[in-house]
Amino acid sequence: MSYAYDPENIFAKILRGEIPNDTVFESEHSLAFNDINPQAKVHILVIPKGAYVSFDHFALEASDAEIIDYTRTVGTVAKMAGVDLPGGDGFRLISNAGRNGVQEVPHLHVHILGGNPMGRMVSRD
Ligand code: 5GP
Repeated sequence: MSYAYDPENIFAKILRGEIPNDTVFESEHSLAFNDINPQAKVHILVIPKGAYVSFDHFALEASDAEIIDYTRTVGTVAKMAGVDLPGGDGFRLISNAGRNGVQEVPHLHVHILGGNPMGRMVSRD
């Protein structure tokens, strides 16, 4: 079965410049911007510019160049936000996928959360 990407999702609209965003960093293949509803002092979303639904989709179908760029962008942004380990107190990366992952926006994103302790890893609600 193949992945069905919805080009009308909100992050696709951000990438097309149809709605504004608070950009933190942009590279050839990736974009990082502040979450509109932050759940921590630092809450940045990192997305690939390509049309990928989820991390598994990206891992299977993205080019090596996109994967390298995306991975490096996450590290760069963590450092820029001051939450990297040499410079700060650390962070949590979350990438929700699908129904059980409770993914709201069907375009791959990782949440970089930091600036304060994150508490338990998973709620059992
Ligand atoms: P998910 O549940 O899919 O992992 O997370 C989606 C995230 O996107 C949420 O944290 C939500 O606050 C954020 N979000 C939804 N719409 C927008 C938007 O228009 N702009 C920004 N910057 N973030 C958004």
